[in-house]
Amino acid sequence: MTKLFPTSTVGSLPKPSWLAKPETLWSPWKLQGEELIEGKQDALRLTLDDQNRAGIDIVSDGEQTRQHFVTTFIEHLSGVDFENRQTVKIRNRYEASVPSVVGAVAREKPVFVEDAKFLRTLTKKPIKWTLPGPMTMIDTLHDGHYRSREKLAWEFASILNQEARELEAAGVDIIQFDEPAFNVFFDEVNDWGVAALERAVEGLKCETAVHICFGYGIKANIDWKNSLGAEWRQYEEIFPKLQKSTLDLVSLECQNSRVPMDLIELIRGKKVMIGAIDVATNIIETPEDVANTLRKALQFVDADKLYPSTNCGMAPLSRQVARAKLNALGAGADILRNELSI
Ligand code: ZN
Repeated sequence: MTKLFPTSTVGSLPKPSWLAKPETLWSPWKLQGEELIEGKQDALRLTLDDQNRAGIDIVSDGEQTRQHFVTTFIEHLSGVDFENRQTVKIRNRYEASVPSVVGAVAREKPVFVEDAKFLRTLTKKPIKWTLPGPMTMIDTLHDGHYRSREKLAWEFASILNQEARELEAAGVDIIQFDEPAFNVFFDEVNDWGVAALERAVEGLKCETAVHICFGYGIKANIDWKNSLGAEWRQYEEIFPKLQKSTLDLVSLECQNSRVPMDLIELIRGKKVMIGAIDVATNIIETPEDVANTLRKALQFVDADKLYPSTNCGMAPLSRQVARAKLNALGAGADILRNELSI
């Protein structure tokens, strides 16, 4: 990007109420068959329109074609049984009924490639596409086959690499892997988590990103955050490894989080997507709030490597709130651009 402070969202944006029940994770579709396909494409156009109106520079599909950022990808793989669901604890935090791995996992056909091609026809702006990271995928599943988190992660990494290569060929400019699990399982991140992610991006020429955060603004995550104390130093455990990794961008939660900003110094040299929008509250940031967070981050990120963004996905918010937050993000980045061009 030649533009200073290119804005983007982390990934998901709210869906229209005619497509899926609003403000709900894993919300079931309201349409079926051909109507569902057309409805998803219409929603994708609307979410792109919202981003354009807010002046967002790197656009996305707002995850309009998927029910959930992890499970929808897994649904397309063989070796996973969706009928026989098992209850597991996600990120050691909340219980969820999830599918079970019952055999060798494989990607028999592309998952999001057609959606990416469609978005490419709608815009000339850079496109960022999100995929779940290997560690977060295994953490959202019951494994009755490999019985090894690491082994299953390596299988997923090679499957993700197949999908990523096809997304790149479809015209995607940045592929982002969502790894909220990186904030929980530090030893595994350092032992094999970052390495598995590097396997997922192997051979890609487009830019690659990893999003690490403290989760969607749902109650279980907010309760967990409240238990973390005055300073959240989780990133410190994994940044040295990430700094040395082949990933180009790191996406972080910074707005209203208790992450000491100076930790970002540990990934100096990487491009950093700074979360300047809190997704766990309906209070709309002012552009000046956004600019303030970005100014603080500028002490630790070179200006040409700072990418203003949201803390996490905005799927659980109302469309009205999400739009207002997008506008604040665009306007906040403008304030900083004007300051630096004087
Ligand atoms: Zn997130």
